[in-house]
Amino acid sequence: MDPLDFLTEFLNTYSPTGKENEASKFLFRKMQDFGFDARIDQVGNVIGKIGEGRPVIFLCGHIDTVPGFIPVRKVGDEVFGRGAVDAKGPLAAMIMAAREFVGEKLKGTVVVAGVVDEEGASKGIKNIIASGLEADYAIFGEPSNARNIVIGYKGRLHFIVKVETKISHPASPVARNASEEVINAWNRIKSVLAENGRSKLRSPSCSIMSIKGGLSEAEVEVSIRVPFGVTWREIFDKVNLAVNAVDEEVKCQLELIDAVDPYESNKRSPLIDAFRKAIKDVFEEEAKLLRKTGTGDVNYYGNWLNIGDAVTYGPGDPRLDHTDEERIKVKDYLGAIEVLRRVIRLVVF
Ligand SMILES: [Zn+2]
Repeated sequence: MDPLDFLTEFLNTYSPTGKENEASKFLFRKMQDFGFDARIDQVGNVIGKIGEGRPVIFLCGHIDTVPGFIPVRKVGDEVFGRGAVDAKGPLAAMIMAAREFVGEKLKGTVVVAGVVDEEGASKGIKNIIASGLEADYAIFGEPSNARNIVIGYKGRLHFIVKVETKISHPASPVARNASEEVINAWNRIKSVLAENGRSKLRSPSCSIMSIKGGLSEAEVEVSIRVPFGVTWREIFDKVNLAVNAVDEEVKCQLELIDAVDPYESNKRSPLIDAFRKAIKDVFEEEAKLLRKTGTGDVNYYGNWLNIGDAVTYGPGDPRLDHTDEERIKVKDYLGAIEVLRRVIRLVVF
């Protein structure tokens, strides 16, 4: 099947987070046609396998996109569509690259997965981890302009601060107002995080996801990017101390929603060498090694495996992520397929 037709059909199968079913089935059918040993797991991930034994190279992209269908069309050398960049383009490139190895005599296993819920709570990758899929090398499909390799993602800490105060008359001069106290708690969180340093990649940036409050109860939902070299637990403990440094009149409680540590690849991983060589050969450019301030499925998987041999790579300009201008250059998409093919070859041949 022509790689461009495959991408176009995939983009036309709209799959915002939580509604990946059709796209999962589409990938499953295609992987079967291509000769993968394919299955859909209980959360809707599609997993295709080629070969047996070690080493195992795991290629993982997400099926879900942010909401908002974009009519799929080709304009010049670009294909427009929701997910073209984040991350159906990168996932399609992985599947197209891996299918070349069907029927070949490999010295290991190639596993390709399309996972669900990456833009949500990462239910998909969490289920892959629960199933115990241990790889020697892992590649996560996210846009890196096809020429760069992403070797670091910050972590994420997501929680709610709940504040309760004793009910008293709003006009009372001694009354503690929960809404005011939750704002105080937020300010204490910001100032304790500011102590951590200033560089964009080092310092934990935080934002309010939602806030609500009355006289005696209030809460603020907070999301923090966890910088390299720190664990989410350390930040959580710090925040906990900061918000609880008040008197007995005010009850503050932290409720953890989700958390993942930052992930950094080992720069000396053979996987990175393979990418460098392949990118140089295909695009005649030196690959750049990048660190991102965001978080991805690689954080969960790389930290769980506790290996430095996981990276993120894919065609597409990451600045177009989640925008209504999502589009991918055909040249980059086809080039990325070739890069991935060469990387797989270097690892399992
Ligand atoms: Zn993505």
